[in-house]
Amino acid sequence: MRPITGVFRGTKNTSVGMATTLRAFFGKNITEQYPEVKHPVMPRFRGRHKLHRHANGLEKCVGCSLCAAACPADCIRVVADENTDDNRVSAGERYATVYEINMSRCIFCGYCEMACPFDAITLGNDWELADLNRDQMIYTKSMLLADPPTSDRYGMNRRAVTLDGDGLDSALPVWLEETVARESGERSGTDPTGRKGKS
Ligand code: SF4
Ligand code: SF4
Repeated sequence: MRPITGVFRGTKNTSVGMATTLRAFFGKNITEQYPEVKHPVMPRFRGRHKLHRHANGLEKCVGCSLCAAACPADCIRVVADENTDDNRVSAGERYATVYEINMSRCIFCGYCEMACPFDAITLGNDWELADLNRDQMIYTKSMLLADPPTSDRYGMNRRAVTLDGDGLDSALPVWLEETVARESGERSGTDPTGRKGKS
């Protein structure tokens, strides 16, 4: 390549790049008002899973573990038990007593959805899954059966409720409870882990 050709080509490429920059610089600003306004995702976007119920309220999941077998990331855990006349949870013979998905390992491939013979699990459009604690990334059955809260502007209450010592549901998200417990422990000189707090 002759030097003069290289100069022309370099000038042209720089001009194209600068034109793009200037177009964005003088163009209309678009500010995403997240989290108040959430950008819509495409209809087939694969996000947070949901477990579904039949119209009569019975769970669709029968605890067959086909989704767990199909999962390439090995992040689904199902423990099944028998339905009884006194305790009918699902429409089949069995139901899932434990259904957990480790969201920190999930690759959102959708294989679990495809493997399920009863359309009991689908991947929804909710993508607000970030957390401060890896333990909180394990979504339990109660979290997956419920729709993600829509009235919660900052997604702070989408955690599974925890049971305190008296068996009551906690009003706080789990990570916030842990922070409050740790900080009050540090103030009093002890903390839940048994370490000595700051004086
Ligand atoms: S979407 Fe894929 S990786 Fe995630 S739980 Fe389902 S099968 Fe496993
Ligand atoms: S979600 Fe579907 S595939 Fe998975 S255990 Fe339940 S019924 Fe079986």
